[in-house]
Amino acid sequence: MRFTRSGGRTASGPSDHFTGAVFIDPIRDPDAQSPIGAAHVRFTPGARTAWHRHPKGQTLYVTDGIGYVATRAGEVHEIRPGDVIHIEPGEEHWHGATPERFMAHIAIHEADETGQTALWGEPVSDAEYHAAAGR
Ligand code: MN
Repeated sequence: MRFTRSGGRTASGPSDHFTGAVFIDPIRDPDAQSPIGAAHVRFTPGARTAWHRHPKGQTLYVTDGIGYVATRAGEVHEIRPGDVIHIEPGEEHWHGATPERFMAHIAIHEADETGQTALWGEPVSDAEYHAAAGR
């Protein structure tokens, strides 16, 4: 058993991967024992990821607030606590909070053969974000 006491490890989401203030608490990082990574991610109102893909896919479990998940193909969902979202391997997408609410989710993903869990693209523009929010 390995027990990690709560505390002290919240990281800010880096600005090349996120727009707005995002806070990340790691749950586990891929290691020699398992390629699975997981984190609790909190988005402040208006904050969102950049466009990105997961080579092995991703599962999101919403724990708080109201947000969005959107794909490059044009699928958009408003997401709320208890919702489960499966992102297919290679599916380009973003996730974030609504303009007026926080949103938090647990993200679960798997590292590929090179150790990557995500492949990052350009920021989600205000126009793209507000198009999703306008649905
Ligand atoms: Mn994702």
